[in-house]
Amino acid sequence: MFVILLLPVASLAAPTGDSHPNDWPILFPDYCSGSAQSPIDIETSKTVTPSSDPGPITLTGYDVEMTAKIVNTGHTAKMTLEGTQPTISGGRLPAGDTFEFAQLHWHWGSEDSHGSEHTIDAKIYPMEVHLVHWNKKYGTIGEALKHTDGLAVIGFMYEVSVFVNAEYQNIVDSFSKIGNNRGEKEKLGKTVKLNDIVPPMFGSLDAYYYYQGSLTTPTCNEAVLWTVALNTIPISMDQLKQFRDLQNDAGAGIVDNFRPVQPLNGRLVYVRREPVLDVGTRLTPNRRVVAPGPLGHIRRKIHRIINFLG
Ligand SMILES: [Zn+2]
Repeated sequence: MFVILLLPVASLAAPTGDSHPNDWPILFPDYCSGSAQSPIDIETSKTVTPSSDPGPITLTGYDVEMTAKIVNTGHTAKMTLEGTQPTISGGRLPAGDTFEFAQLHWHWGSEDSHGSEHTIDAKIYPMEVHLVHWNKKYGTIGEALKHTDGLAVIGFMYEVSVFVNAEYQNIVDSFSKIGNNRGEKEKLGKTVKLNDIVPPMFGSLDAYYYYQGSLTTPTCNEAVLWTVALNTIPISMDQLKQFRDLQNDAGAGIVDNFRPVQPLNGRLVYVRREPVLDVGTRLTPNRRVVAPGPLGHIRRKIHRIINFLG
């Protein structure tokens, strides 16, 4: 997770250079050698379902069209929004706290076989997006980084699709202008809403894993309430290639900008699944519509909306 580049705090904005993640515990010993580091492998058989359902995370302003800027940081493409920022709250987040959107960025690989930071049952995805939010009760992101509930990051995995993801064309088209201009911001040609970035969610994130972790780039602050969504985002091979064609200062392609998974060290990983709704019995009396996986998730949501309207 590349938070440091947006921070005004000098000590946190120190360049990491091209150091290898394996060297970070030595170069940045304060936190990178800590015991609650990210990313992690999520072993689904060991995830814990809390006795009390935390409910869905509410996404506020994710449906608002906003002016977006995108920058090639030399390590990733980072997007920020202008104006009143979207927020997230509820669900696994601390009751009463509101987390404001700061930026989003991606981690990807040189090939489809790797790229994501988090892995699920050791499965690596070709790309992962991090939507970074900070806890408004701390006033500034710099202050938030000092607290274990300072940041709330939502991660989504990508899966290669034979179809172009039309919502992403605006973004990848902008890459031609930031290809090797580190620090140059480019205003996107069209407005963006965060719902364009994420899978269809209708105002809430219902199914997710969550755990306590850290930034995945130095200085690796253990200040992140991590949430990894169960549903994935489709992206075409050509669109993925446009991420890989982004260049760093040295003119080399920005690829493999992920940190390897870190030890759990006894941390628990929780899962919150959307409760199985009995809507299928009403629509199709002989068959419950609860197909597993992302599609089942969307189908259940559609049926719920149909039921609501009907
Ligand atoms: Zn990240």
